[in-house]
Amino acid sequence: MIPAAYAVLNVAAARHNLQKVREIAPNAKVMAVIKANAYGHGMLRLAGALSDADGFAVARVDEGVRLRRAGDLKRIAVLEGFTCAEELDELVAHGLDALVHSFAQLVILEAYTERDKIAVWLKLDTGMNRLGFKAHELQVVYQQLSACSIVKQPINIMTHLANADDVEDAMTLKQLALFNDTLATLPLSAGNERSIANSAGILAWPQAISDWVRPGIMLYGISPFAESTGAELGLKPIMSLHSRLIAVKTVTKGDTVGYGGSWLCERDTLLGVVAIGYADGYPRYARIGTPVLVNGQRVPLIGRVSMDMITVDLGSQPNAKAGDAVTLWGEDLPVEEIALCADTIPYTLVCGVTQRVKQLEAVAE
Ligand SMILES: *Cc1c(COP(=O)(O)O)cnc(C)c1O
Repeated sequence: MIPAAYAVLNVAAARHNLQKVREIAPNAKVMAVIKANAYGHGMLRLAGALSDADGFAVARVDEGVRLRRAGDLKRIAVLEGFTCAEELDELVAHGLDALVHSFAQLVILEAYTERDKIAVWLKLDTGMNRLGFKAHELQVVYQQLSACSIVKQPINIMTHLANADDVEDAMTLKQLALFNDTLATLPLSAGNERSIANSAGILAWPQAISDWVRPGIMLYGISPFAESTGAELGLKPIMSLHSRLIAVKTVTKGDTVGYGGSWLCERDTLLGVVAIGYADGYPRYARIGTPVLVNGQRVPLIGRVSMDMITVDLGSQPNAKAGDAVTLWGEDLPVEEIALCADTIPYTLVCGVTQRVKQLEAVAE
């Protein structure tokens, strides 16, 4: 029996996508970004599939601890660092790399008396204006970290690109110039490792490739650019989202469908009810006409997405019946296309698949 809503995860695709990163950045080490439960794909599953990566990055301390406890021995960078001494303790105890991005963190580090050292990534804010020190602060912070007895030397340096997905935007070049100019003022050696590029940086900005690259979305086979799909970039999607028809019925010209009567039937047609809704992570704001695959054929979404169900127009599929297979996104229906139909980005769709959706691993071919 097919579960009502399920995701199939093709972990072999992760290895293919990592290989793609290696082809583009053959001299860089790869820090695979598996935060947020590997963008909804399952952190430990993806850590296994990406065991050839040189290291991992997660957002939060508890994600790093979970990964380390599962037995992973690689370098694990915690991108948000720590906000209190207890979190710093956890990082040290589990041998996790900490991002250092604020003066408040420096105070905690300098007061810390543990003997074990901690590897740090000093974060420079080159324009994202989220985490990181300003360029004019970096020299003094670097000196302070160099003098800090529990900080492993040499110190690594990271920045994050704000607009790398827009290949026309000069912001990226400005960020790169500021990064390089600022680093030139520090007494660095080849031992100080640098990291700039996310997926869009790797794919569109060769100048952003440095000692470490930090791919996230592209490892999942998804494009970081609004104007392309992962497949067009030579990537393979890992996740596909499926359900089935649970009812098929006729509707008559003049009928409305769903909450708010948001769809008015302009002709008699066959309507299909699919067992997936926003409580599964299907986007509430997917607009009328968003493509859905029924028995492998595209049909349009009609009416409003509800909690547990959506409705589709089966006018082109007179033989469709309850139990038939439905795909919401996957290899034959790019998640990038669904994101455009829902005024969002594919990141939110894969991250948003909920606990209720059964996760199955594709059988290796
Ligand atoms: C999430 C994240 C990444 C990965 O970004 P993608 O666009 O998914 O490749 C890289 N670096 C930092 C600091 C991040 O927060």
